[in-house]
Amino acid sequence: KKYVYLFQEGKASMRDLLGGKGANLAEMTQIGLPVPPGFTITTEACNEYYSNGEIFPAGIWEQVWPALAEVEAASGKLFGDKKNPLLVSVRSGAKFSMPGMMDTVLNLGLNDDTVEALAANTQNERFAWDCYRRFIQMFGDVVLEVEHYNFEQILESAKEKQGVRYDSELSAESLKWMVIEYKKKIERKTGKPFPMDPRAQLMEAVLAVFRSWNNDRANVYRKINGIPHEIGTAVNVQSMVFGNMGSDSGTGVAFTRNPSTGESALYGEYLMNAQGEDVVAGIRTPNPIATLAQENQEIYQQFVDFSKRLEAHYRDMQDIEFTIERGKLYMLQTRNGKRTASAAIRVAVELFHEGVITKEEAIMRIEPDQLEHLLHRRMDTDAKLQVLAKGLPASPGAASGRIVLSAEEAERLGNLGEKVILVRTETTPDDIRGILAAQGILTSRGGMTSHAAVVSRHMGKPAVCGCDALKIDYTQGLVVIEGVEYPHGTIMSIDGATGRVIKGEVSMVDPELSEGFKEFLGWADEISRLRVMANADSPTEASNARDFGAVGIGLTRTEHMFMDPERIPIVQDMILAQSLEDREDALAKLLPMQEEDFYGILKAMQGFPVTIRLLDPPLHEFLPHSEELVVDITKLRMSKADPGSLHDKESLLRNVRALSELNPMLGHRGCRLGVSFPEITVMQARAIFQASARLLKEGYDIHPEVMIPLIMGKEEFIMMRKLVDDTAAEVMSEQNVQIHYKVGTMIEVPRAALLADEIGKVADFFSFGTNDLTQMTMGLSRDDAQGKFLPIYLDKKLMKTDPFVVLDRDGVGKLIGIGVNLGRSTNPKLGLGICGEHGGEPNSVEFCHIVGLDYVSCSPFRVPIARLAAAQAAV
Ligand code: ADP
Ligand code: MG
Ligand code: MG
Repeated sequence: KKYVYLFQEGKASMRDLLGGKGANLAEMTQIGLPVPPGFTITTEACNEYYSNGEIFPAGIWEQVWPALAEVEAASGKLFGDKKNPLLVSVRSGAKFSMPGMMDTVLNLGLNDDTVEALAANTQNERFAWDCYRRFIQMFGDVVLEVEHYNFEQILESAKEKQGVRYDSELSAESLKWMVIEYKKKIERKTGKPFPMDPRAQLMEAVLAVFRSWNNDRANVYRKINGIPHEIGTAVNVQSMVFGNMGSDSGTGVAFTRNPSTGESALYGEYLMNAQGEDVVAGIRTPNPIATLAQENQEIYQQFVDFSKRLEAHYRDMQDIEFTIERGKLYMLQTRNGKRTASAAIRVAVELFHEGVITKEEAIMRIEPDQLEHLLHRRMDTDAKLQVLAKGLPASPGAASGRIVLSAEEAERLGNLGEKVILVRTETTPDDIRGILAAQGILTSRGGMTSHAAVVSRHMGKPAVCGCDALKIDYTQGLVVIEGVEYPHGTIMSIDGATGRVIKGEVSMVDPELSEGFKEFLGWADEISRLRVMANADSPTEASNARDFGAVGIGLTRTEHMFMDPERIPIVQDMILAQSLEDREDALAKLLPMQEEDFYGILKAMQGFPVTIRLLDPPLHEFLPHSEELVVDITKLRMSKADPGSLHDKESLLRNVRALSELNPMLGHRGCRLGVSFPEITVMQARAIFQASARLLKEGYDIHPEVMIPLIMGKEEFIMMRKLVDDTAAEVMSEQNVQIHYKVGTMIEVPRAALLADEIGKVADFFSFGTNDLTQMTMGLSRDDAQGKFLPIYLDKKLMKTDPFVVLDRDGVGKLIGIGVNLGRSTNPKLGLGICGEHGGEPNSVEFCHIVGLDYVSCSPFRVPIARLAAAQAAV
């Protein structure tokens, strides 16, 4: 088997076998760029090393030595030769670049003899000993595992002894002294002298690369990034070129475009008289690449040329390493450059305009989730930050404000115009108003899908969750981080994109929907078949959604409107009414308020459909908690105050208890409320149609769609639809207008999906409510599963992903497929969509495309992500 490929034998498409670095070194060699000669030991060799029980595959060295001979021939030097020694670098390189694996060893092949030869040949003693001390240090650190600081100490004392500041000022004498000290140190630490045989050095270095594939750092990195363990790493052995030969030599790194903005201009740094990592290690301050033009116009021009060739060849922005040896330029690495989300978009858009890539390719170049960074206010990257702790990056965006420990306080201060960060162990639905009033949310418990995280993402509010380092002392009104107390009112900042908790205020920059970004998303819309709508509960959210390109509202949750502090007492009256009359009184008060809500939303979304869901949650969600009432009652009893209010509280408590359910998710909610209390449905329908009538008379183009939640079959739907249709007819005749509206249903109970043909006959549209549909199909209560046993399922690989985040295609998806096909079989015009968290998750959006839905609906801030995901699904 072939384990070794010379650079001239490989190519870019052989990444699996040669690793990214090796494949690109081969490709650069093939297209005629000046790459120092070398060869790559394959990833297969690494894999066999492990499957053999950590022994080298048989025959590998019989391939390495001839390859090395080719490199000797190409370079005109001989490995280990005492006259003209070849030195090589040994570089690891897996298919995906992986920090945490073995670092590169440079100048391998040096020993006490070859160093003298190098000095003589170059007539540069200082240079030769500089290479040697670097080699011993790298080999010692990386291969022999003698910790770095051991060498650092010796280096420091050499500089001190000679009285210089920079490594580059060290004299040959100092360097020789260092070599002696380094070797002593290594012998003391490892019990063996530093290896002098170049071939033994090479074998050990290759072994170290293979072993580094399996070290803890690398394993952890692969786990976090979902890189398979079985792909192995390649090893590149390459003839050295020297950037440390004097002032006509140097080394640098450059991107063909600016990786943070995407601007089309070389961006990079270099250092003269330096080797390898010196540029990034911050030993001296490197110069911006542009000044290379002054240093050496010819080399600069050549580099510009090469980088243009590489970009054109790879058809993407490149990240390039180069070295100049005595006025000659060498290319040492190229790869597609990592970039920020905004740079990624700018580069893709400009590459299209330059005729390099197609629109489809541009669309496929961006990870939908990357866009999230562009859609929220974020920290000024130049700001200096004092990071106190780190939690989970639960909802992107950044915020600064005074910390407050309760929702009430958040609301109070928020209403006074103060900026606050709501800090809680975790949040509950009771905290909604506090969350609304706060700039950002910080919790010490709960994961990426905790209440705080989900709600914050929905609202587009920054949140950091599960920050363990944070101890909250509610009684004293302070938080403690690493033993330091921060009383409430202290100004802090959170960065929801990285999970950082920062002391003090941090300057922020607004999200920019650049022209390029808009153009890019326009292409996405041209390509996709799925339409993207938004879940929005207020006119502001609706217009946000429009700005982000939503073509309608797929879900308006009317219950959020009921939570308004002014309305909640009336809502409670409605719920607790003992007679129909009392209830209708309360409903009459709610009607004009709801009408205003719908008026605002329909107006903000004019021209597009607005899907309004009738009241859905169990009623007790609008009532106070029984524990709180018990506390109040006890207090009232002790103070022997006003028996009237004690009596009121007691009867409220009785009612709350009567309404409490053992299993509210499967309880009295959804259309079941309308079945029990048709007058609620009628009020909501009236509010919708009265708002519609007004808008029509004002000349707006509106498309209301009424959505009935949680049906089990057609019977409930028919009953609810009649209430809606009758109310519509009444309003239309009262107002003398014709309103075009639709009535459809959510499919969120499995039975409804199974009976979709029956329901399709009477409904105008289906919206798959995948949050509930997942709960009910899998028999999983989201709030009980997430953060409790779901992580165990994921850990034990019983599930690949959290089904509340990524739609479960196998089960829930199958039901959706059944619902789609049955529904269309009886009603070819049936509108089909999805609302629920999955509507903004790229993998789930792809499924929606495949299963044939017409639209997805997601939170406004995820609309651009869904637009891109929808386009990618269609490519
Ligand atoms: P990393 O993956 O960490 O970038 P590399 O293998 O690319 O590691 O090498 C580390 C540094 O050494 C880089 O600056 C690279 O340009 C330099 N380098 C690697 N091989 C050679 C060589 N043959 N001659 C000169 N410099 C080299
Ligand atoms: Mg590199
Ligand atoms: Mg639901």
